Formats: sequence, structure tokens, C-alpha cells
Amino acid sequence: MRDLTRHPELLSLNTATVRERWTLLQIIEGCARHGIRAIAPWRDQVGACGLEAAAKLIRTHGLRVNGYCRGGMFPAADLAGRAKAAEDNRRAVDEALALGAECLILVVGGLPPGSKDIAGARQQVRDGIAALLEYARPLGLKLAIEPLHPMYAADRACVNTLAQANDLCDALGVGVGVAVDIYHVWWDPALQTEIARAGRAGRILGFHVCDWLVPTTDLLLDRGMMGDGVIDIARIRGWVEAAGYGDCVEVEIFSAGNWWKRDPDEVLQVVRERYATVC
Ligand code: ZN
Repeated sequence: MRDLTRHPELLSLNTATVRERWTLLQIIEGCARHGIRAIAPWRDQVGACGLEAAAKLIRTHGLRVNGYCRGGMFPAADLAGRAKAAEDNRRAVDEALALGAECLILVVGGLPPGSKDIAGARQQVRDGIAALLEYARPLGLKLAIEPLHPMYAADRACVNTLAQANDLCDALGVGVGVAVDIYHVWWDPALQTEIARAGRAGRILGFHVCDWLVPTTDLLLDRGMMGDGVIDIARIRGWVEAAGYGDCVEVEIFSAGNWWKRDPDEVLQVVRERYATVC
């Protein structure tokens, strides 16, 4: 067990964690009540609040926005679809800047409808990020590639390991890094090595935590609270710290059957406790 009570300011809340019962305004006020100093909001929540209103609220409460969720979804069946995705991603960059976000999280997308060409999808992802980088780099906004568990390769992200994400970063140059979400990568035998590799390049832009429940009853919406599953979170956090990352630990829990149903004040209290004792 690690004593992280010395770094309460590094606890960040991914706003999806309490999205079912609170608006973004309520989430920001809730974080202030619970002493949580950083958030990673989602575009739809910001849209519902209004971009300028959200930015003002965040400033008023002095919150950090350690990441903005999310850009990506690059592959499409035709050129028009790709252009539409590119335009939407540029808008996401603009919104991230307006919010003072420190990076834009990329969930890169899977196969276009009807396609069986995963290599082609991966090429589209690479081209899509390269084009977005040309837009984001001069504006000073970093892009964070988040590898997703292979079970999402078809419909959400065809970048599925940290090695793949590191390879992409090597190919694409400055301005792009990785977000290490333990839910997606905890099982990977190369995880420690690839975390070290990302650290050497100074490209770890985010560290997301929750837990892997056994059994997992829903591929998307059954993530566990830290400590309730099988991931050795403290060990992996040790690896990212050894790799030079000493920044936010972002709690991101999609849990339709459990945590989303509970009183969000209770959820934030448990998040704080588990951050201090498990992460
Ligand atoms: Zn994540």
C-alpha cells in the first residue's frame, strides 16, 4: 500500500465516473466539495453546459483539466467520412484549448462499417493523427493516444497495446504521446517495458485507473472501483513513476450497474479513499 495522501492534488476525476446523475456543473461543484483538484471532462457534457460557461466554471473553481475526452474515431468508409472526422477533431482541439486542457485524449476508432481491413484502419488512424498534429502542434495542444483493450478493436480503437501507441508516437514526432489506462493494458506482458519506453521519450500524458472485475458482465460499462478487481494498481503506478511520470491519477469508471446508480457524493468519497489506499 502506498501513502498517496501527500499528493491529494494529483487525484483527477474523469467526469464519466458520475455522469449518470450529475451535470458538469454539479460535477465541478462536487469536486470542489471533495477536494478533487483536477478533472477530465467529456465533450457531450461540455456541450450540454456550453463551452464558455464550462470554461468559466472550471476557472472559477481553479480546477486543472488534465485531459479532454475525446478526439479520434479517424477511420471511415470514404473520403467524405474521413474529412468529417478530421473536422470534428479540429473542433475538439479548439474546445480543449478553450477549457485550458493539458491534452486531448484520442480514442482512435476501429473498422469502418462493413470493413475487414484492420491494417487499413490502422493506416487511416496514423494518417488521421498526423493531419491533426499539424493543426494541434502550432497551437501547443498535445494529443494523447489511448490504447484500448483488444476487445474494442472492431468498434472503438484499433490501437490496442502500448507498444503500438509508442510506435505511432515514434513515427509521428513531437506533440503526441500516450495515455496509460490500466483497464486496457494491465494484461500486457510488455507493459512494464513499454511504460519505460514511453517514459524515456517523455510522452506519458495521462494515467487512468479503475479495476477489472471478475466476472466482467458488460464489455463497456462494468468497470470496477480501484481495489475491487484483479489489477495490481500500485505496481503499475510504480512503473509509471519510475518512468518519470509524477502527474495526475485519473479515476475513470464506467459502471452502469453499480457506481453510476449510487449517490455521486458517496462515489467521490470512495474514490478519494481508494486513491489514498489502493492506487
Ligand atoms: Zn481512459
